[in-house]
Amino acid sequence: MDIPKLRKNLELRGFDFKFFETGAEAADYVAGELGGRTVGIGGSKTVSDIGLYERLCQNNDVAWHWKQEPNEARARAAAADVYICSANGIAETGEIVNIDGNCNRITATMYGKEKVYIIAGVNKIEPNFERALWRARNVAAPLNARRFNVDTPCVKGELRCYDCSSPERICRGLAVLWEKSNGIGSLEVILVNEELGY
Ligand code: SF4
Repeated sequence: MDIPKLRKNLELRGFDFKFFETGAEAADYVAGELGGRTVGIGGSKTVSDIGLYERLCQNNDVAWHWKQEPNEARARAAAADVYICSANGIAETGEIVNIDGNCNRITATMYGKEKVYIIAGVNKIEPNFERALWRARNVAAPLNARRFNVDTPCVKGELRCYDCSSPERICRGLAVLWEKSNGIGSLEVILVNEELGY
């Protein structure tokens, strides 16, 4: 992994970048930045792993469908000032890839937020866009399908995407952030030197 290359390419695309050795340090940083805000969180094992929700709830109005009534929390998160999630794949060339079922996460990273934080472990970094897309489809999505235990071939068979037509398919939308969207104020990628999430 080439962190200077990743930083340079993300910054060229209008993203901000921070690097931390541990998830605890990343959580300290984000919690320290936010106070008195409305904060939405996307489905993210990374956010769960670093204990950020509990930290943010001390000083912010936080909406997260993993911890609260899901429909109401998703609606509140969509209206929040700040949004926090992870990514399914990030290329050293600077593209950020996410695949969603409800698409609440991918829409929030593209429109309507003052600030978006994307927190990712080093396991999400790939050398180029093609590999980041491959990872999102063939690693992150099947692992998420297994977490939901849905009736799809990627849960029952080997770990890869079968581009299934299952009614329980979790992959409904694909978003590639080529650059920071004009529809948000700023987007900061926070890379953590740990394996986090899927
Ligand atoms: S499209 Fe279907 S097979 Fe592919 S990862 Fe998504 S749920 Fe699994």
